[in-house]
Formats: sequence, C-alpha cells, structure tokens
Amino acid sequence: MANIDLANWVREKIKSLKAYEVEDFDCEIKLHANENPFSLPEELTRNFPECFEDLQLNRYPDPDCRLLKQAITDITNIPPEALVIGNGSDELIQLILQIFCDAGDSYVFPDPTFGMYSIIGKGLGLIPRPYPLDKKWDFDGDDFLQFLTGQSARVVFFSYPNNPTGNCYSAVEIKKVIVGFRGIVVLDEAYFDFAQQSFCEDIKNHNNLIVLRSLSKIGLAALRVGYGMADPYIIEQINKVRLPYNSNTISQEFATRVLQKFSPIQDQIKLILQERDRLLEELSKLDSLTVFPSDSNFILFRVANDGEKLFKNLIENGILIRNLNNHPSLKNCLRVTVGTQKENDLFLAQLGKIDL
Ligand SMILES: *Cc1c(COP(=O)(O)O)cnc(C)c1O
Repeated sequence: MANIDLANWVREKIKSLKAYEVEDFDCEIKLHANENPFSLPEELTRNFPECFEDLQLNRYPDPDCRLLKQAITDITNIPPEALVIGNGSDELIQLILQIFCDAGDSYVFPDPTFGMYSIIGKGLGLIPRPYPLDKKWDFDGDDFLQFLTGQSARVVFFSYPNNPTGNCYSAVEIKKVIVGFRGIVVLDEAYFDFAQQSFCEDIKNHNNLIVLRSLSKIGLAALRVGYGMADPYIIEQINKVRLPYNSNTISQEFATRVLQKFSPIQDQIKLILQERDRLLEELSKLDSLTVFPSDSNFILFRVANDGEKLFKNLIENGILIRNLNNHPSLKNCLRVTVGTQKENDLFLAQLGKIDL
C-alpha cells in the first residue's frame, strides 16, 4: 500500500487555486448561466437516431474538423486555414495563453469580466492583471495601452459584449488597442449572436488579433463547441499544442448541422432579444434597482440594499440567477439570464413580491 504525502507533490501554484464554482442549487428555473432557454428546434433533431448510426463512433473523430470548419467558413467568410475548433471556447483561451506566455508572464483584461480569464492563466503559472473599467463599464484606449506597457503584458482579453456587465466596449477604443499594442489581442465574442457586432473582419488586417466564438450561449452548451479565427500562423501554433481529438464526432456533427440550418436558431435568438428588451423595461420600472444596458442575453442590475437577500429569496422560490456580490465593484449586483417568456414572468412576479 502506497501512502505518500500527496500535498508535497502538487505544485505550489496549483495548491493555492480554487476550482471554478458552479452554483448547484436545485432550482426549476435556471437563469444563471447565460444559456439558451429553448431546447434545440425539432427540425434539427428529427433524424437524429439515423444520423447516430452513420457516425462511426468506433472511429476517432476528424482531428481537422473539416466539415465543421467549412460550415463556419460559409457563415463568416473566414477560410479554414484561419480557423481552429475548441472543446468550448474555454479551451481556446487556455491554448492561447499556453502558446504566448511563459510562467511568470503577465496578461491583462478589463475588470469585472469573465472569471475564466483569471482562473485559466493562474493554472498555467501566469499573472493576471485586471484593468478597472469606468462607471459605464468602458475604458479609454490610450490609458489602457499605457497600462499594458506598464505591466509588460503579452496578451489582452476583451469579452465583447462583456460578461457580466452586458455591454460592448466602444469599438473605437478597442481599435486603438488592436493597432497600438505590440502583443496579442483576443476578442471573445461568445455573445456575438445577440450583439451582432464583430471584429472578425479585422483579422485580415491585424495579425495580432484573435476572435473567439462559442455555440454555448445559443443552444449547444452541452456539446462544448467554440472556435477561433486568426492569422494562419497563429492557428498553426495552436495546432501544435491542441490535443488532436479535442473535438468529438457528435459535437462536430451537430454543430455543423446547426450552422448549416441556422434559421430556427435565429428565430430563438429573435425571441430572446425581444424578451431581453421587455425584461430591461420592466426592471427599469423598479426604483430600488439600477439596471445596466445589455447587448447580450443577460442583464446586470444592482439592488439598493441587500443583493444577497434577494438572491436567496429567489432560490427559495425556485429561481436561480447569478450573485456577483463577491466582486468589489459589483456590490449588491446580480445577473439574470433572459429565459422564456414564462420564466421571465415568474422572475418578475417574484421580484414584485419582495421588499427590495
Ligand atoms: C460563456 C463564456 C465563454 C465560454 O464559452 P464555452 O464555449 O462554453 O467554453 C467564453 N467567454 C465568455 C465571455 C463567456 O461568457
């Protein structure tokens, strides 16, 4: 029987980390993870059983994801050699940091933002440097560039629109950073389908730019499909460290189908955007809330008094949203994902019952 002191063997950098926490409350109504509230349209799942038989699950998947890349090329006009598929865009964030940073190097992101930027880099022994956003959750490009220089940053991440604040940063300020920064700029467009604002055309003119997209927020969260667009030289480097079968056959097949027949998903997105605007309007009527504008499928708001109390009350009533109170600039802030009309109505009704 071997019994070694395992803690002595784990790297110090890892011991001090904490695993990404996903709220695990047993709530019927899940408005906490920015997922699409609708299941896949029937016309996309109809012949799934037959298709399963054709998939040759005894064989390894296509390591180059050729069919999926072609479907992405058809939509984006970005050629296959400028594309890489990830097991979720999270994986691509990790690969990017892995190829551009050595242990001890710094990278930057505006803050508050998506928690994984910091978690992934720490796991690689890198130093995350958050840049504080202004009151409108935006920034000045020149000041940002100075910060990047001061930190000797090698990579910068922009969530565009930004999770959890919901807004797109000023495109002009982002452009300044792309052009002025001697390093890698990652535009994470996980919410592109809701904002319809993109920098993907710019990869042709700026070889330091990487644009990431994801299918997680538009209905395929379970399949883990993300993709990156960049100069083919960068794609080549990513392919050197990417595990060859990172994207499985079922995910490739289903993502390809969805992208080839996108109109039913587009209809869902339209409904979500209508509901988003209705939620924004209704929330804005509540005096004790500060509601922030949104270009995405979720809304950030601040409660005048006790955000924790509201969060818990909602859970007791079967409604899970995201509590952001732990972040110093998000005191009493909560983030709600746009759900179905019914879910949103239940959420609003419960808010109405609480003494805010
Ligand atoms: C949800 C999210 C992702 C993760 O997407 P996956 O493709 O599911 O890994 C990436 N970036 C941002 C900003 C997100 O909110």
